[in-house]
Amino acid sequence: MAVLSSQGITFEISVPVVIIGAGACGLTAALTVADAGVEVIVLERDSVPQGSTALSSGMIPACETRIQKNKKIGDSVAVMAADILSKAHQQTDPEMVNVVCRESGPAIDWLAETHGIELTLVEGFLYPNHSYLRMHAPASRIGADLIGSMTQAVEWAGVDVLTDSTVIDLFADPTGRIAGLRFERPDGSLETLGCSALILACNGFGGNPEMVKRLIPEMADANYFGHTGNQGDAILWGQTLGAATADLGSYQGHGSVAHPHGILVSWALMMQGGIQVNAHGQRFSNEHDGYSEQGRRVIAQPGSIAWNIFDSRLFEIGQGFEDFRQAVSAGAIIKADTISQLVEKCGLPEAPFKATMEEIVSLAGGIGKDRFGRDFTTNPELRSPYCAVKVTGSLFHTQGGLVVDRDARVLRADTTALPNLFAGGGAARGVSGPADWGYLSGNGLLTAITLGRIAGRVSAINNK
Ligand SMILES: Cc1cc2nc3c(=O)[nH]c(=O)nc-3n(C[C@H](O)[C@H](O)[C@H](O)COP(=O)(O)OP(=O)(O)OC[C@H]3O[C@@H](n4cnc5c(N)ncnc54)[C@H](O)[C@@H]3O)c2cc1C
Repeated sequence: MAVLSSQGITFEISVPVVIIGAGACGLTAALTVADAGVEVIVLERDSVPQGSTALSSGMIPACETRIQKNKKIGDSVAVMAADILSKAHQQTDPEMVNVVCRESGPAIDWLAETHGIELTLVEGFLYPNHSYLRMHAPASRIGADLIGSMTQAVEWAGVDVLTDSTVIDLFADPTGRIAGLRFERPDGSLETLGCSALILACNGFGGNPEMVKRLIPEMADANYFGHTGNQGDAILWGQTLGAATADLGSYQGHGSVAHPHGILVSWALMMQGGIQVNAHGQRFSNEHDGYSEQGRRVIAQPGSIAWNIFDSRLFEIGQGFEDFRQAVSAGAIIKADTISQLVEKCGLPEAPFKATMEEIVSLAGGIGKDRFGRDFTTNPELRSPYCAVKVTGSLFHTQGGLVVDRDARVLRADTTALPNLFAGGGAARGVSGPADWGYLSGNGLLTAITLGRIAGRVSAINNK
C-alpha cells in the first residue's frame, strides 16, 4: 500500500475518472460520471460489489425529497442540518453539514427517477434525534437490496465495474497529482490503469484491527460488524500525499447485536418503548440518546452484554425488519407470559428486574422522572406477554477520514486541494464529530450518497 512516483510511468490504458470501491459511494459517483457522458471505471476488491453498504439496513436520510413532499412532511435543509449538528454537539464542520443536507434530497430523487432505484420512506417511528421522517430505504430495509439495485443501475448505465481488483498503489507526481494506480488480481498478477481524476470510495478502517486499536482503543476488542475489506487504504494513501485527516476517533457503534447470533436487532424497538437492562436486571442509560454510543455502554456492562426487553406489540413492529425476522428464526428472541418466567428464561435476578419493570410502568404513567433523562410517557407501557433478546455492542463503521471541501476534493493540511483526488463515504471525514456519540442515524449512507454524487459531478466536469 504505497504512493509511488509517476515519473517515467506510462499506462497502456487510461480512463478519465477511476473510482476505488463499489459500495454506495463508489456506485453513486459512477452513475453521476456516466450521466455526464464521461468514461469511468470502478475497481472493487471483492468478486461482487457489497461493502458495508450490503450489510447496512439501507436507510438513507434525506430532506425535501419528492416522497416527503407528497406526504406533506415539512422537513428542510435547515432542520436536517440542525439535527446533525445538535447530535454532534456542534463539533463538526457546519459548512459540510449544509452541503450534504442540500445534496440529499436531489440525490434521492435522482436515484429513483433517473436510475430506477426504488426507495420508500420509513414510517411509524422517528430514529433518535431526527425531527422528521426522512429515512429512505429499499422496501425490504436491507442494504443488500440497495447495493443490488445500484449495481443493476450501473450496469444499465454502461459503467465497467472491475471486480477482484484490489488497488494497492497510487502513482503521483511531486504536486500530488494522481497519474494512475496499480491493482492486484486474485492470482497475484498486477495491472495498472491511468486516470485524470481518482475518487476514493473505499470506506474507512473498521476492518483493520491495528488502526482500530491505535485510533479507537475503546473498541479494540469489540466485534466489528462491517465489511472486512475496509482496511483504511484511502486514509493511508491520503496521509502519504499530505492530505489532512480529522475525527479519526469517530465511529458508529451499535448497542443491539443479538449475542451470540450476530444479528442486528432494530433500534426501533427501543424508540417505541423497549428498554435495555444489564445482567443485574438494571437499566444503565437513556436508550433514546442513540444506538451508536450505546455500543460502548453495552460493552462496559458485566460480560459486555445487555438484554433488550420489549413486549408483543414491539415484537410485531420488529417483524417489519428482515434482520429481526432472522433473529426470530435463529431462536434469539425469548418470550414469556410473566415477568417471573422472563427472569427465569434470561437468568436475570428477579428482585432488581421487577423493580426496573415497576419503575418504567410508573414513568410511562408520568409518575416521576427517569434518572437518565428518557421520557417514557410517549409510548405505551410494556405489557405481558414479554420478549427479550441478549445483545452486545459492536463497531459498525469508522466516521473519521480525509478532509474534503464542498466539491469533495481531498484537502492538504494547509487547506489547499490536491489536484485531482476526491473522496466520499467512509473514506472522507463524516459529519458526526470526534466520537461515537455524534452519530445521527444514517450519517453513514448520507455522506456516501451525497459526497459520491458531488465527487462524480466535479470530476466529470473537469474531464469533459
Ligand atoms: C450492520 C450495519 C448497518 C448499517 N446501517 C446503516 C443504515 O441503515 N444507514 C446508514 O446511513 N448507514 C448504515 N451503516 C453504515 C453504512 O453501511 C456505511 O456508512 C456505508 O455503507 C459506507 O459506504 P461506502 O461506499 O463508503 O463504503 P462500502 O459500502 O463499505 O464500500 C467500500 C468498498 O470499497 C472496497 N475496497 C476497499 N479497499 C479497496 C481497495 N484497496 N481496492 C479495491 N476496493 C476496495 C470494499 O471492498 C467495499 O466494497 C451500517 C453499517 C453496518 C455495518
